[in-house]
Amino acid sequence: MNLNHPLTYLKGVSNAKASLISSELGIHSLNGLLHFFPFRYIDRTKFYKIKELVNNESDVQIIGKITSLRTVQQKRGSRLVATFQDETGSMEIIWFKGHKWIKDYIKLNTAYVAYGKLNFFKSSFSMVHPEMDLVSEYKRKIQSKLQPVYSSTEKLTNKGVSNKIFRGYVQELITHIFESIQETLPQYFTEQFQLLDKRQALLNIHFPNSPELLAKAQYRLKFEELFFIQLQLLKKKMIRKQKIKGYVFEEVGKNFNTFYKDHLPFDLTNAQKRVLKEIRKDVASHAHMNRLLQGDVGSGKTIVALLSMLLAIDNGFQATIMAPTEILATQHFNAMDSLLKEMDITLELLTGSTKASKRKQIHKDLESGDLKILIGTHALLEDKVQFHNLGIAIIDEQHRFGVAQRSKMWQKNELPPHILVMTATPIPRTLAMSVYGDLDISVIDELPPGRKEVKMVHRYDSNRLSVFNFMKQEIAKGKQVYVVYPLIQESEAMDYKDLMDGYESISREFPSPNYQISIVHGKMKAEDKEYEMQRFLKGETQIMVATTVIEVGVNVPNASVMVIESAERFGLSQLHQLRGRVGRGADQSYCVLLSSFKLSKEAKTRLQTMVETTDGFKIAEVDLKLRGPGNIMGTQQSGVLSLKIADVVKDTSILKKARNVAIELLSKDPELSLPENRLIKNTYAVLAKRTGIWSNIS
Ligand code: ADP
Ligand code: MG
Repeated sequence: MNLNHPLTYLKGVSNAKASLISSELGIHSLNGLLHFFPFRYIDRTKFYKIKELVNNESDVQIIGKITSLRTVQQKRGSRLVATFQDETGSMEIIWFKGHKWIKDYIKLNTAYVAYGKLNFFKSSFSMVHPEMDLVSEYKRKIQSKLQPVYSSTEKLTNKGVSNKIFRGYVQELITHIFESIQETLPQYFTEQFQLLDKRQALLNIHFPNSPELLAKAQYRLKFEELFFIQLQLLKKKMIRKQKIKGYVFEEVGKNFNTFYKDHLPFDLTNAQKRVLKEIRKDVASHAHMNRLLQGDVGSGKTIVALLSMLLAIDNGFQATIMAPTEILATQHFNAMDSLLKEMDITLELLTGSTKASKRKQIHKDLESGDLKILIGTHALLEDKVQFHNLGIAIIDEQHRFGVAQRSKMWQKNELPPHILVMTATPIPRTLAMSVYGDLDISVIDELPPGRKEVKMVHRYDSNRLSVFNFMKQEIAKGKQVYVVYPLIQESEAMDYKDLMDGYESISREFPSPNYQISIVHGKMKAEDKEYEMQRFLKGETQIMVATTVIEVGVNVPNASVMVIESAERFGLSQLHQLRGRVGRGADQSYCVLLSSFKLSKEAKTRLQTMVETTDGFKIAEVDLKLRGPGNIMGTQQSGVLSLKIADVVKDTSILKKARNVAIELLSKDPELSLPENRLIKNTYAVLAKRTGIWSNIS
C-alpha cells in the first residue's frame, strides 16, 4: 500500500464507495484520506453507568449487555427494541432500520460498548441506532481518547458510509502506512520549535491520545502548512526581485525637488514620508516595484502618488493613474492639475466621455512622449492608448479592477512599469501576509494632523425626525449632507423603491427653494450622475441622496453629515468607506447610522464596532472575524481559502511565526541547498508544482 493508491486498497471500500467519497469529499487517494482531518472530537474517556445518566448529556458511552431483542410493529414498518443492561440499571436501544443485520450479528449477553445520543422519554432513557462495539474489539482498536468526527454528507451517510465506517478506513490506513509516513521538516526545526514529528502529528490529529497531544498535532500541522505557503510566497517575491528588471529612477530631480520645496501645500505626515522612502528605494533598485499602498480614507495617498509620478518624470518617464470611476478620475485630475499649476508638467484626463478630437490628441502626445501624466478610467486600457515610455502605473482602489485588466498595463512597454496599487480598504496585516505575501506592502497608518474625528451615532428609524432636524441645523450653518440608501443586488427593486420613497420624504421635509437636493443612483445615465455630483460638489445642492455609488473616493470637504439609512444592511467596510466621505474639512463632522429596532447579532456587532472605532484596520479585523477570509476583497483567488487545517483568522500567531521562520531560512539558504534543508527543498518542489498560488496583483 502506498499513499498514491486509490481508496479501494482499503478493506471494505468498493469502487462505488471510492468514487462516492471522491465526489462528495474530494478525497481521491490514500494520501488525500490521510490529510482529511477531523473537524471535531468526542471525548471517549468517560463511561457512564445507566443509573448516573441525566437528561442533559447528548452523546454517551455505556458498557452493558443486551439481554433481549424484540420486534415491535408500528404504523409503518417495525422497530427492533433491545433491553440493554449494566449492573446499575437498564434502558432501551432502538433500531428502525437494518434489523436483519443486527439480528444476525448482535450477540446477546455479551459485553458491548454502546455509544450514541441519549433520548429521554416518559422518564426513561433510550438510544437510537447507537454505535455498538464488542468490548473485546473496542480494546483492540487504536486507543484514542478523543474520537474523531469527520465532515460528511447526507449522501455518504445514506449509502452506508457512517462516521464509524469512515473512521474505520482511516484507522486501517494509518495502521498500514504509519511506518512509511515521511518527515517533511528537518530535525533542527522539530527540535527548535518543539514540533511533533510528522508521524505522531498525523496519528494524533486523527486519533489523539490526549487533549495535549491533539493540541501538539494541530500546532505542528498548522505550522507546517503556513510555513510552506509563506515559503512559496517569499520565494516568489525573491524571484520577482531578482529576475524581473525594472526601470531605474536614479535621480531625485528638478520636478520632485521644486514641487517638494515650493508647492507642497502641507507638511507630509511621518507615515507619508516613510512610504515615499519605501517607494524611492524600490524604484532606484533595478528591480521591478510591485507595491500595495494601504491607507485609510483621507490618509493622503494622493500626494504620495503624485510625488512618485514626479520621480518617474524626473528620470525621463511617463506616469499614469487609473481610477475605477469617472468621478474619481476627474477628481484626481482636478486635484493634480491644481497642485501642479505652477509647474511645467503636461497632464490630461482620459475617460469614456472624452471627446474624439481630444482623445486623438491625447493618443498622439502620449506616443510622442510630450504628455507626461495621464489620468483616467478603464479607457486607459484601450489598445489605442500607447505610451512612449511608461515608468509607473498607479492604480487607485484596486479591488474594483480585475486581475486581467490590471495586467494589461504591463504589455505596453519594454519593461513592465513600476506598479503602485492604492487601496483604502485595509486588509488585516495577517491576511495580507497570506494573500499578498509576495507583494511589498506599505501602510499609511496616520491621518494628517488637525483632523477631527467623525462623531458617530446610531439611531433607530423612529428617531428619523430628530435626525432631519439635525440636518437642518447643519445646513443652516452652510454645510452639506449625504443620505445614503443600500442597494443590494438581490433586492434591487425594493431598494430602489426605498430610495425613491426616501427621496420623496426628504423633498417634503426639505422643500425648495430653501433646499436643493441631488439624487444619484446606478440606474441613471453617466452624464446625469455626473451633473448631479457636480451640483453637490459646487454647493448648489445641500443634500445628496444616493445609493452607494458615492462609496469610493469622492471628496466634498464641505459635507459634514453622512446619514446611512438601513445601516444594518451594509457591510463593515462599506460603512467605514461611507463614513470616510465626511470629516474632510476643518469642521466637526457627523455620521448617523439609522437602523430598524430589530437587529441580528452580527448587525449589532457591526454597528457597535462603527460607533466604537474609526481605525480602518481594527474594523477590517472585526470584519474578517465576522465574515471569514472568503469575503474579504482579494482573497478569492488566493490559497488562503484552501487551507486544510490552519485558519488565517484564528491562527495569526502561528502564521507570524511561520513567516518569520521562512524569512530567516531564506536569508541563510535562499536556494535551499544546504543539506540540512533537504526535506524542505523536496516538499517545496512538490508544492510548487502542485499549487499555483495566485498572488501576483498585476
Ligand atoms: P486618500 O488617502 O483617501 O486618497 P487624499 O489623498 O484624498 O486621501 O487626502 C485627503 C485630504 O487630506 C486631501 O484634502 C489632502 O489634500 C489632505 N492631506 C493629505 N496629506 C496631508 C497632510 N500631510 N497634511 C494635511 N493635509 C493632507
Ligand atoms: Mg483617494
